[in-house]
Amino acid sequence: MPRKDIIDQIQKYTHPFRITSGKGFQLKDFDPGETRGLRMDKGEAAELLQRGTQWLAEEQDMLYAQDRWSLLLVFQAMDAAGKDSTIKHVMSGVNPQGCRVSSFKQPSQEDLDHDFLWRYVRRLPERGQIGIFNRSYYEEVLVVRVHEEILKRQKLPPQVMGKRIWDERLADIAHFEGYLTRQGVVVLKFFLNLSREEQKKRFVKRLDTPEKNWKFSASDVHERRYWRDYMRSFEDAIRATASEHAPWYVVPADNKWFTRLVVAAAIVEAVEQLDLAYPKVSAEQKKELAAAREELARES
Ligand code: ATP
Ligand code: MG
Repeated sequence: MPRKDIIDQIQKYTHPFRITSGKGFQLKDFDPGETRGLRMDKGEAAELLQRGTQWLAEEQDMLYAQDRWSLLLVFQAMDAAGKDSTIKHVMSGVNPQGCRVSSFKQPSQEDLDHDFLWRYVRRLPERGQIGIFNRSYYEEVLVVRVHEEILKRQKLPPQVMGKRIWDERLADIAHFEGYLTRQGVVVLKFFLNLSREEQKKRFVKRLDTPEKNWKFSASDVHERRYWRDYMRSFEDAIRATASEHAPWYVVPADNKWFTRLVVAAAIVEAVEQLDLAYPKVSAEQKKELAAAREELARES
C-alpha cells in the first residue's frame, strides 16, 4: 500500500478524536462506545494494531539513533479504563532501552515539599527516548481539584491559593507543554474516555474473577460518586490545554481493542511527521568504517 494511503487510513482513526483547540470542546460530543464501523471479530483491528506496533518499533529505532527528539505520552483516565493494558499492548514492539514508563500515585512528603510540576519534570524523557506517563501532572487539576483536602496537603502559602487557582494551574501546564515542544519533546495526551456503565461492568468483573481480585479497590468504587466532578475537571483541562503542538486524544474506551488501535495510530502518525531518518555518516566516518573493515579482513 502506498505510504499516503497508509497515512489516510491512520487518520481515519485519529482525527475524529484529536483535539487541537479547546474552543467549543464538550465531552458529551464524544461517545465512549464508538468504533468507527470497525469490528473486532473480523480481525481487522488486530491486524491494524499489529502493523501499527511494528511501525512504531521501526520509528523508535530511528528516534533513538538520532538522539534529538523525544516523545512524551500522557495517559489519563478514570479507573478501569485500560491505561495499563493499552500501554502494554501499544508499546509491545518497542525496545525497552528506549522507553520508560512512570506511574504517578499519591505524592510523597518530598513531592509535597516542592512545586506541583517537580516530580513530573524529574521523569521527563531524555532525547531519543519515549517517556510514558501513566497518570501525570494532570492529576494536579483532576483528583486534587475534585478533592480539595488534597490541595491543603500541598503546603501552599495561603496568598497563592486564590479563587483562580485551577485556571492558573491549567495555564501553567499549557505553558509548560509549549516549553517542552520548543525543546524537541513531542507531547501527546490521551484521555481514555470510559462510560460510567462500562466502569461498573469492569468492577463487577474484577469482583467475580479471582485472578482479577487484586486489581479491585473499594476506594475506586467510592470514587464513582464524584464522576460528574471528574468529567467537569477533564473537560476544563482539555479545553485549557488542547493545542496543535500538544493535542489531546479523547479515545473511546468502552471497547479495549479500539482504544489500543486509536492510541497506536495517534503515536505512529505523530512520529511519522518527524520524518526521522538514521544519522548520515560523514566522509570521515566512512573512511573509518573502511579501515575497520580492512582490519577485520586482515584477521582471517
Ligand atoms: P491501577 O490501574 O493499578 O489501579 P492507578 O494508577 O489507579 O493504577 P492506584 O495506586 O490505584 O494506581 O492509584 C493511584 C492514586 O493516586 C489515584 O487514585 C490517583 O488519583 C492518585 N494520585 C495520583 N496523583 C496524585 C496527586 N498528585 N495527588 C493526589 N493523588 C494523586
Ligand atoms: Mg487504581
